[in-house]
Amino acid sequence: MNKIKNIIIGWFKYLFKPQSKLAKERLNICRQCPYLEVVLGQETCSLCGCVLEAKAEVEDEICYDGRWDNIKNVNENE
Ligand code: SF4
Repeated sequence: MNKIKNIIIGWFKYLFKPQSKLAKERLNICRQCPYLEVVLGQETCSLCGCVLEAKAEVEDEICYDGRWDNIKNVNENE
């Protein structure tokens, strides 16, 4: 159930809010990551299948490869 909630929150923020500082930092890491792939024009994580611009907006989402672990969870837009 949390996964569905996170998907809805992530897509809402991605589509209707300015990109958060947290998402920017996460996406900078994803864009150096070998697990990133572009599917139908969307940057997607091949480990979890998520669209990254939506996933990165959800504070309690994690990177399954631990690559986001050192980012401070400070979000200036919230
Ligand atoms: S969420 Fe993690 S594993 Fe997936 S693309 Fe981003 S850094 Fe890579």
